[in-house]
Amino acid sequence: MQTSFTADQLKDPDTRESNQILRTCVHCGFCTATCPTFALLGDELDSPRGRIYLIKDMLESGRPATEEVVRHVDRCLSCLSCMTTCPSGVHYMHLVDHARHYIEDTYRRPWPERLLRRVLARVLPHPGRFRLALLAARLARPFAGLIPGGSMTAQRLRAMLRLAPARLPAADPAAAPQVHRAEGERRGRVALLTGCAQQVIAPEINAATIRLLTRMGIEVVVTAGQGCCGALNHHMGDHDPAMALARANIAAWHAELAGEGLDAVVVNASGCGTTVKDYGFMFREEPAPWKERAEAISAIALDISELLVKFGYAPKREAPAGLAVAYHAACSLQHGQKIVAPPKQLLARAGFKVKEPAEGHLCCGSAGTYNLLQPEIAGQLRERKLGNLARTGADLIAAGNIGCLTQLAGDALPVAHTVELLDWMAGGPEPAAVQAALARRRAA
Ligand code: SF4
Ligand code: SF4
Repeated sequence: MQTSFTADQLKDPDTRESNQILRTCVHCGFCTATCPTFALLGDELDSPRGRIYLIKDMLESGRPATEEVVRHVDRCLSCLSCMTTCPSGVHYMHLVDHARHYIEDTYRRPWPERLLRRVLARVLPHPGRFRLALLAARLARPFAGLIPGGSMTAQRLRAMLRLAPARLPAADPAAAPQVHRAEGERRGRVALLTGCAQQVIAPEINAATIRLLTRMGIEVVVTAGQGCCGALNHHMGDHDPAMALARANIAAWHAELAGEGLDAVVVNASGCGTTVKDYGFMFREEPAPWKERAEAISAIALDISELLVKFGYAPKREAPAGLAVAYHAACSLQHGQKIVAPPKQLLARAGFKVKEPAEGHLCCGSAGTYNLLQPEIAGQLRERKLGNLARTGADLIAAGNIGCLTQLAGDALPVAHTVELLDWMAGGPEPAAVQAALARRRAA
């Protein structure tokens, strides 16, 4: 694709990067075939190629973002399915991240939307604030059906209340800063990202991760000072807070790396893992030592499934006969990190019958805060995904990302994080989702 940025515009490193990305696109349109929003809406401007044109025009003009550009970029899930499909290697993620940042700098959203985005950006990344917000949402949940109207604000309020869990588990002390010693001979040492929303909604995921790794001889460090990876803010174009959160993590993990050493920074929420692996890029223009430190952290960041393959996961007990797991590939894992086979191989090694749904490349509609900001499209994608998962005939759903687990939970098959199932087969407790699945089997 030809571009026409001025020499002055190209002095900006983000514009320079976007210019390179735009120039790799050959307009072939292959990406449109696998884009969830194009599949649902059928509008070229809601396809990757259409958005690329809109972003190009917006950046080249140097003018503030228009309502039309904002609408179509906001509808993008950042699922990155287009990156998997693109034969030319267009780095859509970096392009759309730049576009979102540009939009937030130049476009004034209506006040209810500004308020909502501000609340999400200031609450979700902080477990204490998020817990309080969920407690309030739980109280309001029974009244969700009373919210009148089909306006976007009403839809968003209903989506928030629907997604608030009916039960809020107690905080798990395992996620507090400490060192979890390896059992037996130490084979490795990793830092665990304990995350933000996940540790509030599903503390059992970190607990299972720590149990499983320490049992495998891997010491797990939960460093003081680490917290949200910054992805939620980053994908809303909220640049400075995202960088501050990422910087805190880099500082905390770098201190461990330079001290007793780390084999990996392990992440069990793939949306967060994609961002941690991108810290090197995010900090590419930052002065020393941040650029180098960010690169060093990204270089050792691993999804939990990668780490388990590396250290040779082996089960210690047998799965109940024929227990079938439908594996839902989170977009951030399959498209963002290109991790496709390891989670399925691990589940099969653990003794589960692994089923794959049709349209496995399509997003479930979670996508960070997308299911709160674009509830209608997110709801359609959820129904489509749940239908495909149910048609596998599996007993439960496994996925490696808390956003997907929250989106798919509720009225269909029970959901579990992959690591909970692997921990169970390696000697850990039976996950609640398995108990629910076995109960459904008995009742059938
Ligand atoms: S598939 Fe790649 S090269 Fe083709 S239009 Fe889409 S982004 Fe551009
Ligand atoms: S990131 Fe997903 S929703 Fe956005 S353009 Fe690409 S395929 Fe479509």
